[in-house]
Amino acid sequence: MDARGLLVLPGFIDTHSHHREPGFTHKEDIGTATRAAAAGGVTTTVGMPNVNPPVTTLEHYEGVLQLYARKALVDFNLHPAPTVVSEVPRLASAGALGFKVFQIVDTKRSYPHMPGLGVTNAGEMLEIFEAVKPTGRPVMVHPHNQELMDRFEQRYWARGEHGPLAYAAAQREYDGLVWNTAIQFLLQLQEAVGTWLHVLHLVTRQSVEMVRRAKAEGRQVTSEVNGFSLFLGDWETIERNGPRALGRWVPPDVKESLWAGIRDGTIDVLGTDHGPHTLEEKLPGWQDMWKAPSAVPQLQDYLSKLLDVGVRGGELNLDQAVRLASYQPARVFGLYPRKGTIEIGADADLVLVDPEAEIEFRDEAALSKCGWTPYHGQTAHGVPIHTLVRGRFVYRNRHLVGEPGWGRMARPTT
Ligand SMILES: [Zn+2]
Repeated sequence: MDARGLLVLPGFIDTHSHHREPGFTHKEDIGTATRAAAAGGVTTTVGMPNVNPPVTTLEHYEGVLQLYARKALVDFNLHPAPTVVSEVPRLASAGALGFKVFQIVDTKRSYPHMPGLGVTNAGEMLEIFEAVKPTGRPVMVHPHNQELMDRFEQRYWARGEHGPLAYAAAQREYDGLVWNTAIQFLLQLQEAVGTWLHVLHLVTRQSVEMVRRAKAEGRQVTSEVNGFSLFLGDWETIERNGPRALGRWVPPDVKESLWAGIRDGTIDVLGTDHGPHTLEEKLPGWQDMWKAPSAVPQLQDYLSKLLDVGVRGGELNLDQAVRLASYQPARVFGLYPRKGTIEIGADADLVLVDPEAEIEFRDEAALSKCGWTPYHGQTAHGVPIHTLVRGRFVYRNRHLVGEPGWGRMARPTT
């Protein structure tokens, strides 16, 4: 094909995505999520277990994978939850890339952190680490100290503060103690039991430092950063856009430590944490952010944001950006060398990007069923023009041409 003027990159691999099917298909489904992925240059996307029924058993895992096989435009897998520990070995044998644990439970809402998935008990966490260790797969944890968060949020509510800024500030009390204490505990469990720990969405300076130390000691620890931390998250945007920008509040000095962590390899992968919710669900957050779901859609736009904010903004070179979004996710989750690289013998998962073209993000252009983007009105340089999955176009000349059912399960090869 004629690729003059375009960058040819290995397709992006998103190892942290919420596709909402089954159970929450009013806001997203496998078809719409993988359409957004194809348009965003994402050739493999991995779903999370907080669907209904939650993915905790082999039966549910295989059931959801069958839905993907029928509906997905791009390659896929799914991280089950290890909360039914007797199922863990079977799930690993069936091809799970990792096991997702939420340390958070929702206090005024029932989703996305639904009852039955949250693990806030240290003994239960220990048994999960013990169960996952022999599989050789990672425990991926959303770190959160629920007991501390309960206290912090009650203080805000007692003062009558319920809005987006209160929510953003409550989570970050004492410079992120809710996250830092959780990660410290997880790292201690990792050291004691020896299970591979993958820490999700780092959002504090201290957590980057803790992971950096653990890696320097040669321990099996990997970590993730999300789009909302790098491309959203500043106080002014939360003030202006409220629930549409949350996510998390990430102050400028913390953002700088995240970029530094990416550059020195402390942070391994960019996961989107693609979190589609409808605006009808999000916007009541202006009154009470605890009642509205957090998280924002990302799949379609994060490649452009990474090239614009990350590469054009001078935080990373192009190599580092591609490592973060494709090569490292493949390496960490055992998909390399089939994925995450352009070489003979690898899958021809490619995204061709026009680095000079400019995109204006608009809600109306969102392919996610939720129908909006947190970047509405913003622009970025770096636009996916074509996306190929295993040698076949799924997106061509900025038009979707992929078909449901083309996507295949991406199994660990190592
Ligand atoms: Zn998530």
